[in-house]
Amino acid sequence: MGKAISKAAKQSARARAARWAAANPERVREVKKAYRLRNLDRIRAEERDRYHTVRRAALDAYGGVCQCCGEAEEMFLAIDHVNGHGNEHRKLVGRNLYYELKKMAYPKGYQTLCHNCNAAKGFYGQCPHSMKQ
Ligand SMILES: [Zn+2]
Ligand SMILES: [Zn+2]
Repeated sequence: MGKAISKAAKQSARARAARWAAANPERVREVKKAYRLRNLDRIRAEERDRYHTVRRAALDAYGGVCQCCGEAEEMFLAIDHVNGHGNEHRKLVGRNLYYELKKMAYPKGYQTLCHNCNAAKGFYGQCPHSMKQ
């Protein structure tokens, strides 16, 4: 008996909510928008976490630290295409480079470099670190 009453109460609450929503379309839009925005933050945070995890795995797969100077600060590190064409390749896969590498089970031909060494290699053909040796 109690169950039936609570079911009826739920139904009438739902009906009330539906009537309220029909009478307040503006307010419903606002609430939905706010909800979506709250969700968006959560979704973006999850994407950031996933991106970071996949990026970290790729960096580790290709040496974990700069293969030229040993820089270990993750924020300075990037994946370098050993035989050049890195720009074309990056253009191809964009932000998904790390995902693509993971999908391909980390193929040969890439290494972890810091942005300094990577940029120097791009500009001068080799890094000053290796010119000094
Ligand atoms: Zn370096
Ligand atoms: Zn270097």
